[in-house]
Amino acid sequence: MKLPIVAYGDPVLRKKAEEIDEDYPDLRGLIDNMFETMYAARGVGLAAPQVGLPIRLFVIDASPFAEDDEDEPGDPSLQDFKKVFINPIIIEETGEKWAFNEGCLSIPDINEDIVRPEHVLINYLDENFEEHEVGLSGLAARIVQHEYDHIEGKLFVDKLSPLKKAMLKGKLDAITKGQVKVSYRMKFPQQKKGK
Ligand code: ZN
Repeated sequence: MKLPIVAYGDPVLRKKAEEIDEDYPDLRGLIDNMFETMYAARGVGLAAPQVGLPIRLFVIDASPFAEDDEDEPGDPSLQDFKKVFINPIIIEETGEKWAFNEGCLSIPDINEDIVRPEHVLINYLDENFEEHEVGLSGLAARIVQHEYDHIEGKLFVDKLSPLKKAMLKGKLDAITKGQVKVSYRMKFPQQKKGK
């Protein structure tokens, strides 16, 4: 089942999310629904707060980045990079900072170059509640850093300069009000009901 994606301006995107345990109701179903929602929206990552749940869970499938496109060769190592992260903890971020043009399913139509460290060391539980500690680099690290920010109540636009943010304010306000065209179902915090 596809879930509506919460838009910029909703308070749930600003909460520090809570850990969950194995008794979380219908966790399997939720994970399936999050993947289905992410694929339908052509995303590579989706965090639980983006479907209205302030819990420490996100899903990732980076395989679109494994394929070559017009401007850039793909990274074959991302072919099978499909993972569920539960109660993750970023242990450290290291390496040179690099810019990548990020977008977010909760902030449609805005893409900006965001600078983050190249490597990340993360501890997390998978969908079977088995613990892992992995080091990731490049795009894999990038997606994890972006999704991890979501469960900390942070968004990529927070990292923009005050000037850039001021320039985007009108666009962000329009998203909150639902005045944006999207190809997937969204929940807008200030959308006017009726016509
Ligand atoms: Zn996002």
